Amino acid sequence: MTTTSAIVAPAAVAVIGLGNMGVPMGLRLIKAGFAVTGFDVVQTARKNFASAGGRIANDVAATVKSAEVVITLLPNGEVVRKAVNELRQHLKPAAIVVDMSSSDPIGTRALGAELIASGHEFVDAPVSGGVRRAADGTLAIMVGGDGATIDRIAALLGAMGTSIFRTGALGSGHAMKALNNYVSSAGLIAAVEALLIGRKFGLDPALMTDILNASSGRSNTTELKLKQFIISETFADGFPLRLMAKDVRTADDMAHALGITAPLADFCVQLWEAAAQALDERANHTQVLRYMERLGG
Ligand code: NAD
Repeated sequence: MTTTSAIVAPAAVAVIGLGNMGVPMGLRLIKAGFAVTGFDVVQTARKNFASAGGRIANDVAATVKSAEVVITLLPNGEVVRKAVNELRQHLKPAAIVVDMSSSDPIGTRALGAELIASGHEFVDAPVSGGVRRAADGTLAIMVGGDGATIDRIAALLGAMGTSIFRTGALGSGHAMKALNNYVSSAGLIAAVEALLIGRKFGLDPALMTDILNASSGRSNTTELKLKQFIISETFADGFPLRLMAKDVRTADDMAHALGITAPLADFCVQLWEAAAQALDERANHTQVLRYMERLGG
């Protein structure tokens, strides 16, 4: 295989990080015919993937040694950096590393430059859509990096997502992902505040949701989260609050680094980080309702 050829099934692919997203996305690749090997530092995560039908390895070297493509689905950019530092010596020459985590774009640029200098290829391809769309293979994927490298992995991306956007240079996917989640998080806070105010005034929360969804206040939160996870208090959509706090922090850090005044982003960071401190480490992001109820006494 030359370094310009497309990566098609049954090529070997490694998935590093078998959490909420790594498992369903790995399974999508298996379904598309790729020879996937998964690895996670946590044994129960490895077992989850194996019991869902995935092949696992017990160390990083065995996971990546034959892989044409190595996908990282890890908590943040720092963890990605640490994992890549451990696995890079075991990579095949010209292997492509695809960071599908939501990482910090500045760190991504630095890590990518190092990998590319050592003869590998690297793109950032974070996702949006959560666990349900990961399982369906209908994620939105925002891909930054070299166009020829992105062409080579088109079949993999197509197995995991249906809306695939090329965002520009290395790091631009991660930048876009953080900005998307900032917008989503601000909409969620506004919807939860409206719910608390309306409820106290005597409005019915379910009726409020129907009206928002037929009106200009409609958003992803009002359509897909208010009734399903917040009013029902199931808080079970699979996206942890700590990850939302991280993404909003990334977006706000970008604003500061670029000299952009972003007062709402500054406020959102404070709120999400305070909620992450106040609630259980495993809290779902929709449980920000609980934090906001406490604020109101
Ligand atoms: P998760 O916490 O469920 O899974 C991360 C996994 O990485 C864990 O199983 C952990 O044990 C493993 N891990 C940590 N360090 C490791 C290492 N050095 N080597 C191997 N494995 C390691 O997180 P998730 O929900 O799957 O999210 C993964 C990424 O995708 C995050 O960056 C997140 O922000 C992003 N994301 C998540 C969602 C969602 O709905 N959960 C949606 C979009 C994007």
